[in-house]
Amino acid sequence: MFAEVIVDIIHYEVDKIFEYSFSDCNVQLGSRVLVPFGAKYVEGIVIKINDESNYPIEKIKPVYKVLEETPALTKESISLMEYVTKSCYVTKASALRLFLPSEMRKGRIKEKFTLFAELKENIDVDKVISALKSSAKKQRDCILFLGENGKTELSFLNKEFGSSAVKSLKDKEIISVITEQTFRSPYKNLGNTGKQVVLTNNQLSAIDSIVNTDKEITLLHGVTGSGKTEIYLNLIDRAIKDGKSAIMLVPEISLTPQMLAQLRARFSENVSILHSGLSAGERFDEWWRIRNKEANIVIGARSAIFAPIENIGIIIIDEEHDGSYISESSPRYNTIDVASFRAKYNGGKIVLGSATPSVESYLLAKNGEYNLVELKDRINKKPLPEVEIADMRNEVRRGNNSPFSSVLKSELSDCLNKGNQAILFLNQRGYSRTVICTECGHVQKCSDCDVSLTYHYEDNSLLCHYCGAKYKMIDKCTNCGSKYLKYGGIGTEKIVLELHKLFPQAKILRMDRDTTQSKEGHFSILSAFARHEADILVGTQMIAKGHDFPSVTLVGILDADMSLHFADYRSAERTFQLITQVAGRSGRADETGKVVLQTYQPDNLVLKRAIQYDYEGFYKEEIAIRKATAFPPYTDIVRILISSESEDDALIVTKAVYQELSFVHETYRDKFRFFGCMKAPIKKLQNKYRFQVLMRINAKDKDLTDKIFITVNKYKSSHVNVVMEINSNNLS
Ligand code: ADP
Ligand code: ZN
Ligand code: ZN
Repeated sequence: MFAEVIVDIIHYEVDKIFEYSFSDCNVQLGSRVLVPFGAKYVEGIVIKINDESNYPIEKIKPVYKVLEETPALTKESISLMEYVTKSCYVTKASALRLFLPSEMRKGRIKEKFTLFAELKENIDVDKVISALKSSAKKQRDCILFLGENGKTELSFLNKEFGSSAVKSLKDKEIISVITEQTFRSPYKNLGNTGKQVVLTNNQLSAIDSIVNTDKEITLLHGVTGSGKTEIYLNLIDRAIKDGKSAIMLVPEISLTPQMLAQLRARFSENVSILHSGLSAGERFDEWWRIRNKEANIVIGARSAIFAPIENIGIIIIDEEHDGSYISESSPRYNTIDVASFRAKYNGGKIVLGSATPSVESYLLAKNGEYNLVELKDRINKKPLPEVEIADMRNEVRRGNNSPFSSVLKSELSDCLNKGNQAILFLNQRGYSRTVICTECGHVQKCSDCDVSLTYHYEDNSLLCHYCGAKYKMIDKCTNCGSKYLKYGGIGTEKIVLELHKLFPQAKILRMDRDTTQSKEGHFSILSAFARHEADILVGTQMIAKGHDFPSVTLVGILDADMSLHFADYRSAERTFQLITQVAGRSGRADETGKVVLQTYQPDNLVLKRAIQYDYEGFYKEEIAIRKATAFPPYTDIVRILISSESEDDALIVTKAVYQELSFVHETYRDKFRFFGCMKAPIKKLQNKYRFQVLMRINAKDKDLTDKIFITVNKYKSSHVNVVMEINSNNLS
């Protein structure tokens, strides 16, 4: 027999299928194998099995070894891999890596086995004990312990009763030692947050519509607090009862524990979790639990869409508008597209949920490609929180230079006096965004990136938020030596310090990337806040989404303008989404909530729509602008990003790429709306100079993007990187 194998080497030159022979019946479709490749052995995946080969038999080498008995990849994964290869323009090997926990490759991690001991089956405890020497006290205790507690970890017994006592019991054949696989399972102590609710009529008819539509995708557009989560749980329940499986995605790792707790309360061991924040061992074990069908509900962030689960009944993508669903590194896949592939393959359905759908999705729903279900009211018709605008220009005029407007201060003190909780949102971590010299105007920058450094108060350092480089805080300007330095732009650290001054009694928690480094960091902060161990939670966009804190009655949006300034066609949409999401954290239980939104442009149309919760109005204006200016979803933005440590080499390649693409542009002029070549907005990143060729072309023209890819890909070399991105979330 012959196996077609993809070897685990990411290189265009070996992006081929290699053939090996085998006689071992363990070689199956999807098996991970070790095969001879050149002078060494490499790992690979069997993607096809043939009875015959077209090659001369003596040229075909045999498979060296099968790595696991159960094939790691399912048949579906193999088809999906081919789809990713074509749609994301990556090698097969790089697409394959999406399907396997990285620890599994190269055998870096294995199942965990633990030794246990128990009394042998026909042991009469009293008899054995009376036969012991009176000095063998430890042996006696150990026997009594095992008699009472049954099978126990050997390491525990050794510690408790001494290893020599345990050994002699083993030698005397009183106890037996057994090896068992133990599962490393994440988030063991989430607590039980399952609550029984009776679904409202709105929820029931939403479910009805989703179940009965013949469309593959339903867009569930429901205001914050409209009870979407209950709908998801019900749909998962139905899938499981039908003997099918389910995938539930949330946009951030920080949201997984909360959702996991709700799922476990309902479906107990049937739920598994997959995301990059787990330890290697946990991820490995969870992955195999899914593969071995011991769990048929998967919850996770983006990458969990590749879970090795079979027979999918439903895929739920919560907060579908979120940018995290589009991968920013190769393979640059769009989660909704991958979900759609899997739903089709399995005959399952997809639910995209959001209070603020992306304009792309909403357009598809309006056009009838998606089934549209709308929930316009919160559960029990609770009003959405009232939003008050604080015009920061007036504050400055009145001499208030603090980051808090007077109305926010008084609302905060009201909220705290009533014993309620508040959330303050600012999408900037650290103490100050930049450090500027007041003498010469020099801004401290990263030496590897063309990016200004953020001052972090806690460890008194300057941090590059792009490459992570850390520098000692300076006491004088590195350009002119002046000691007069000024902080520009405020971050969450500074907000916390200012709050301590204003409300010395208040307990404050901060949640941003710096305070959530550890695996359960998110969870411990959120659950402390949920237990009301703090009065105010200050945070970045991490706190904007999904969380349900009943005692929060005030939300402050400290700088609503921040995301409006980005020169990105999505900035209006992002701002609208963020404000709606953050505002939705307020007043979710009995008391009506309030939101204070601080801005320097109170007349901005997007902000106005957001504070009226007018998604429809926002959408109409935004989609009209996209159409008039030819931006997605009416076009696709294709960017060729060229980067190299040598600025000259990058420039030479950029010019060549541009020149050759000009011919494509000439031929297909009618399909292009824009074509240009320039430095990337961030000119240098991690010591690499960056240039770009930007195009806006007719939407979803696969033939054209294929042509563009073939044209540019040959310019890739070991020292000049050339990548093609389509509708990337990040055009910096
Ligand atoms: P969304 O996901 O739409 O923001 P949630 O699903 O978090 O909303 O629901 C908001 C709140 O309403 C939650 O506290 C939830 O437990 C509660 N809830 C949901 N459905 C019901 C129901 N049918 N009856 C009572 N409470 C409900
Ligand atoms: Zn200076
Ligand atoms: Zn840097």
